[in-house]
Amino acid sequence: MDRKPSLFEVDEKIYRRYDWRKQLFCRTNIDPNFEHYKQDVYKKAKEFLKEEKEGYTRLDYALNMAAWKLYQIYKQIPKDKIREMGIFESGRRLPKYEVKHTARMSRIIKKVASFFGASITGIARVNEKWVYSHDCDGKPIDLSAYKYVIVMAIEMEPEPMGSSPSVTTAISTALGYAKLSFLSMHVAEFIRYLGYLAMESINDTGLSIPMAIEAGLGKLGRIGLLVTPQFGPRVQLCKVFTNLPLEPDNPQGNGILDVCKKCKLCALACEVQAISFDDEPSFHIQSPTNNPGVKKWYINPEKCYHFWYENSVDCSTCIEACPYSKIEKKRASEFWNV
Ligand code: SF4
Ligand code: SF4
Repeated sequence: MDRKPSLFEVDEKIYRRYDWRKQLFCRTNIDPNFEHYKQDVYKKAKEFLKEEKEGYTRLDYALNMAAWKLYQIYKQIPKDKIREMGIFESGRRLPKYEVKHTARMSRIIKKVASFFGASITGIARVNEKWVYSHDCDGKPIDLSAYKYVIVMAIEMEPEPMGSSPSVTTAISTALGYAKLSFLSMHVAEFIRYLGYLAMESINDTGLSIPMAIEAGLGKLGRIGLLVTPQFGPRVQLCKVFTNLPLEPDNPQGNGILDVCKKCKLCALACEVQAISFDDEPSFHIQSPTNNPGVKKWYINPEKCYHFWYENSVDCSTCIEACPYSKIEKKRASEFWNV
């Protein structure tokens, strides 16, 4: 595995690879001390439905649950089973496809990613620093067989956005996960049929944001998300790890979005102050879920997650507030004006 100098200021005395058991979605399942252990994020939905609240209607919840469908199925398929899903099994026994020009192979991968729905694609060497040390079950993660990571961003559907926090807006997030499932599985399968290793990944296995930054997709914002030039933070990320010979892309300058030092719109928009107001990025962590040792604006994921429970659905208010997302504020009911 190649080691690449980090784009971020990293305190090597402190920094350790992230253990995914610290992440809130894992803690919901494995940490009995976590406030929302084994709780259903939709538990307040019934109250909101009774109130007939705008943006929390029966239509909104039905569409939201429908949009999650493919991702829910994808999560239940063990990764080794995904690899057995191909129909033309004999195709895998053909000799390895010979890669004569890595630059052309990279262009082919980007074309294939775009064919399967990627809005932006970049390639980086696998940097062990951003690979999780353990998965949610406590199994150590070793990606030494994979040399490159193909990072793909999909644009979140703008139409339902603009009324966060609401179930109407959350439809975009749910649909995004379905698209990421579809995209990552198909790109990985294409590579396997060329005779190379490929492992699809959404939030699992490694930190998508620094990988995306190293692959040239954008920079890290105060918001704690990747900010892309094309869609701002209004993107969702997936990745494919592979040993297919490729040519890595160049990052866009340093890893931190400098404009965020002055702009604090995402922090002002957050109802629970989960986003830092500090002028400068720092090493100050906000919660045990944060991974210390990188200079950035740490968000407070507990505050954010708690708000999702109170709101009965996830939230995108900070994404909508970022000028780079290009989202206009509107009423949730407008989506259903047919
Ligand atoms: S998702 Fe909502 S609660 Fe979480 S940081 Fe953004 S605005 Fe705050
Ligand atoms: S809203 Fe402003 S501070 Fe927040 S990520 Fe976007 S540009 Fe940066």
